[in-house]
Amino acid sequence: MSEENSIIEQSLTALLEDKSFLPDLKAQTREQAFKSLVAILSTPNHIHKSFLRVALEDGTIVRIPSFRVQHNDTLGPYKGGIRFHESVNEGEVANLARLMTLKNALHELPFGGGKGGVIIDPREYSVKELNLICKKYVQYFNDILGPDKDIPAPDAGTGEREMDWMMAEYKNIHPGMPYRGSFTGKSIINGGSLGRKEATGKGVYFAFKYLLHDFMNNNEKWLKNQDNLFAKTALSKKDKKLNIAVQGFGNLGAVAAREAFKSNELQINVVAVSDRNVMLYNSDGLDIPALVKYAEKNQGDLPRTDEALAQHEIKAVIKERDELLELDVDMLIMAALENQIHEDNMEKIKAEIIVEGANAPITEKADEYLSDKGVLVIPDILANAGGVIVSYLEWIQGRETQFYKEEEIYKLLFDKMQNTMDTILPQFFGDPFPLRQNCYIHSVMKLSTVLFRQGKLY
Ligand code: NAD
Repeated sequence: MSEENSIIEQSLTALLEDKSFLPDLKAQTREQAFKSLVAILSTPNHIHKSFLRVALEDGTIVRIPSFRVQHNDTLGPYKGGIRFHESVNEGEVANLARLMTLKNALHELPFGGGKGGVIIDPREYSVKELNLICKKYVQYFNDILGPDKDIPAPDAGTGEREMDWMMAEYKNIHPGMPYRGSFTGKSIINGGSLGRKEATGKGVYFAFKYLLHDFMNNNEKWLKNQDNLFAKTALSKKDKKLNIAVQGFGNLGAVAAREAFKSNELQINVVAVSDRNVMLYNSDGLDIPALVKYAEKNQGDLPRTDEALAQHEIKAVIKERDELLELDVDMLIMAALENQIHEDNMEKIKAEIIVEGANAPITEKADEYLSDKGVLVIPDILANAGGVIVSYLEWIQGRETQFYKEEEIYKLLFDKMQNTMDTILPQFFGDPFPLRQNCYIHSVMKLSTVLFRQGKLY
């Protein structure tokens, strides 16, 4: 059973025992309904698979395996990114699709969960070939995509360029039909939303800032009275200068690091950042704006030599990339890849707060180990929803053909995240479950209630 499935079962078991949840369901009908729920939520509705036939520039004909997994559409059209990666596979895409169903449910977005994958290393293809692959993806999956059916967005290996191409192909195939809401994460000029690129990084910052500042200030007395390991962890960081390390300095990590660097609410020293090549460290705090500027001019990479650092007047020591995770810091922001904290390094983690910007950066075993120690993990489902929230706003704007100002987007984004945090945090600090489990329980509760009311659990 995959990690998400076991957590879905655990969440449903907790709900089954809670008699105040769906009280109309009693005895055998109740057990039957819960069995249906496990089945519905732990398996995708559809797995679509195609082999895209593409003529490469040298005349070679290739067939590229590609997927679209539609996990669940109880709450609305399927929604989730398309990943271009050489090692993407059906199981990974199905897991990510399920996470999208739960994430959208948690944040009250009117979407189900989906995800796509194309097995290529995009760096090995010319721009023309990538354009063809994108068009073919839309042609092959045409029947199942659309603004009211399934709305893809970028994921690893894809970005606004690919979404622009895909939307254009969708428009070609469906002349005269609404098309702007068919893909999100597009360029602004093609109907994308202001703030979409920064949304996930800003949302990650908002998530820990809200927990450690706003929520703590408003609930400090109550928190002190809770016999809860995680409340103690959070309280131990209140009003302290926080040293933080950020793994990954791409779209998400660089924005989250910059927001943390300029925080007015928390006192933060960003002492370390890493990317695929190096870790940079400075115990007095790194000059994040200078590093962002550098990365923008160097294909996203951080400086890799002392000369490059000196030339840009950046004070830092270059260290081994993976040592970042084991630094003695207060908080780690995970903004690179999956499965970074695992059985082999979990005992070396010293941070007491970990924010999951990337999806699933901590394995299930490591997550259990860290939670037992009282490490407060702000999970992906909660922390990295900024992207899909602003995708939702892009979808609305595309349908209304009315566009919002950047400040309006951020206000709507933070309002949405605050609503979720205000629902989840009191529940979380009041019981012994980790935050991830609390979020899952909430999502599963919402999905179960809607499925029950739609008469689908018999
Ligand atoms: P990105 O490609 O822009 O950046 C990834 C960064 O991680 C780069 O700086 C890269 O050098 C670095 N990196 C790669 N391997 C590393 C390693 N082993 N150690 C340290 N750093 C390493 O990607 P992104 O958009 O910033 O997304 C990061 C992660 O967050 C991805 O897993 C993505 O799926 C997830 N995510 C992104 C968004 C979004 O809106 N950008 C939303 C939800 C989830």
